Amino acid sequence: MTISLADLTTQETPTWCPGCGDHTILASLKNALAELVIDPKDVVIVSGIGCGSKIPHYVKTYGFEGLHGRGLPVAMGIKLANPTLTVIAISGDGDTYGIGGNHFMHTMRRNLDIVHIVQDNQVYGLTKGQYSPTSKKGFKSPSSPHGALETPVNPLALALTMGASYVARGYALNVSQLKELFVDALNHKGYAFVDVLQPCVNYNRANTPQWYQENTQVLQGNDPANWDEAMKLARRTDKLPLGLFFKEDRPTYDGEVSVYEKGVPATRDISNIDLSMMLKHYV
Ligand code: SF4
Ligand code: MG
Repeated sequence: MTISLADLTTQETPTWCPGCGDHTILASLKNALAELVIDPKDVVIVSGIGCGSKIPHYVKTYGFEGLHGRGLPVAMGIKLANPTLTVIAISGDGDTYGIGGNHFMHTMRRNLDIVHIVQDNQVYGLTKGQYSPTSKKGFKSPSSPHGALETPVNPLALALTMGASYVARGYALNVSQLKELFVDALNHKGYAFVDVLQPCVNYNRANTPQWYQENTQVLQGNDPANWDEAMKLARRTDKLPLGLFFKEDRPTYDGEVSVYEKGVPATRDISNIDLSMMLKHYV
């Protein structure tokens, strides 16, 4: 069996601005799925709300475009209902680290076997350029006209702290590394988090492709089994490292649930439940 890019391409044309990082994230994801020859019928891509969250429309797999910040619970439900599926959650920085921050935190500590890609352009693009949780201090936007006052979220440090078993950072315009990270994340058994730095050419005039070129550096020679080293790298602000920070094998939530369910048959059988008893609480 082979999977071509045409097999993964829908009839929809992406509506993103020319130069938006979402284009290359989409291409890298399709290249990774084709390389791993994962049957598209076994893949579900779940998103939230945002420019990048339109991605399920553009990949010919199963897809679900959900609510703002709520992609991860949907991805979790899908994975638990059918653990054989490859589940990919994809969401923006505002979606993931803002309104969806609670879900982000708890998905990580559960080590659910899903890939989570964050399109991190440090701004709310869809809603016209408000500052986001990863905007740098002083970032001027319609909602922070005098400059953002808060310290930005450090997604990599947060992921390491919350027990993510795979932590990586890519850059949308480094497509060869990004595809490799996606392949590696898809091969990882457990929660695989890839924060992808990307330009928003329309609303983020601070983090331009030139800025990324000057302020990022591909990781070399680090030991991804070393959590302390990963944390040190995650806290670097002079040059943002790109690559795999941390990876460890440990039991997954979906694996633990299926072991538990073997001993508790019919947990999903609700045919014998008297719904009238439940409804009494609401009348
Ligand atoms: Fe991409 Fe920004 Fe345009 Fe949205 S507004 S499509 S994030 S460049
Ligand atoms: Mg954003």
